[in-house]
Amino acid sequence: MENTPFKNYLVRLEKTGKDLGLSTQTIKALSEPYNTIDGEIEIERDNGVKEKMKAYRVQFNNARGPYKGGIRFHPAADLDEVKALAAAMAIKCAVVGIPLGGGKGGVAFDPKKYSKNEIEKVSRAWARMMAPYIGANKDIPAPDVYTNGEVMSYILDEFEKINKRSEPGLITGKPLALGGSLGRDIATAQGGMYVLEELVKKMNLKRENLRVVVQGFGNAGFNMAKILHSMGYKIVGLSDSGGAIYNSAGLDPEAVMKTKLAEGSVDKFKGAEKVFSNEDLLVSDCDILVPAALDNQLRADNAGNVKAKIVIELANGPTTPEADEIFQKNGVTLVPDVLSNAGGVTVSYFEWTQNVSGYYWSEEEVMQKLQPIMANSFAEIWNMAEAKKVSLRESAFMLAIARIAKAMKYRGVK
Ligand code: NAD
Repeated sequence: MENTPFKNYLVRLEKTGKDLGLSTQTIKALSEPYNTIDGEIEIERDNGVKEKMKAYRVQFNNARGPYKGGIRFHPAADLDEVKALAAAMAIKCAVVGIPLGGGKGGVAFDPKKYSKNEIEKVSRAWARMMAPYIGANKDIPAPDVYTNGEVMSYILDEFEKINKRSEPGLITGKPLALGGSLGRDIATAQGGMYVLEELVKKMNLKRENLRVVVQGFGNAGFNMAKILHSMGYKIVGLSDSGGAIYNSAGLDPEAVMKTKLAEGSVDKFKGAEKVFSNEDLLVSDCDILVPAALDNQLRADNAGNVKAKIVIELANGPTTPEADEIFQKNGVTLVPDVLSNAGGVTVSYFEWTQNVSGYYWSEEEVMQKLQPIMANSFAEIWNMAEAKKVSLRESAFMLAIARIAKAMKYRGVK
């Protein structure tokens, strides 16, 4: 059987279902999306030619609350992957205990080849097609690969025009001017830091002695490096798609960002001891490795060479199941994506909360509310992993599935 992301989810579900003693009916209901909207939109391009594109939304599970998850604009729109991502959103929301379900969607096209005007038309067409299915109490989309606050604004505007009412809680990741939340830009990294701090305490380690390597220098990676550097961790390695840099004496992420903005990539930074490939960076000398770029970075062929004893997954799906096993055997503590990057969706939940209540918070309030959610979720997952003698990933999955199954039971799925 081919190892697709959704099949990996099903294998894990089957095992967890048995461990938790779930009924066949419950496992079956968790094995397929509740609803898949799969069709076509049409736009007129700037040259007057009409073009059709595949558009979709997978609504995986809403037992714990409205469906929640991003929209991606990507040419390789693969329903198997989107189903896996929608299931992962349901898991992630349950891990941090926020009252939302899981969804994901998108449009199959390459936005890099389209004008701003055409991207606006695609966004509005997607909103028209999905208008009956989405809403602040139904399904709340957000940005994902190649979508941003601007795309969210077009979708919100089109939806509100169709429904002739204001509904800012329809969508998250909006610009502040349309009801976005303060702190959303750094939320994923900040959440990852709160989780790391709990782990460091549990393991009786000292920040000053910990050397960190971060793969990826975008929203998640750059902010994580910047925050950890300001707290006294030593950032020894950084990378982007152009290459990687390493300095055993430490790097200042903001100085590296200045170089990246001026010259295009981190490997142009003058203060590096070594410049090497991304592959080499993953196995370089450090205590903490933070994959914050792409999926499938830590695999059977390189996991055994990783020197870090702690891995904090800020990217979604950076570790394959085979690499997971190698890490467990080698005593590497890995904090899974569904926990370590859940600060992002948690602040999206705060954005929605602020929108539906009409009462807005300061950035300080946002962070004060985020910290205990991340710290308590970490403690629950850590304790369950200890009690059941499983990895933190298995523990997170078990905890989440148990919460979703409980909500399903109250709704009559026995
Ligand atoms: P981004 O586009 O802002 O940044 C991605 C970074 O990865 C860029 O610096 C890019 O140069 C780098 N990169 C690309 N290919 C690379 C390679 N082969 N090696 C090293 N670096 C490479 O994206 P982001 O929002 O920071 O997201 C990064 C990851 O974090 C994704 O997996 C995303 O799903 C996950 N994530 C992000 C958020 C969020 O709030 N931004 C929330 C949850 C999960």
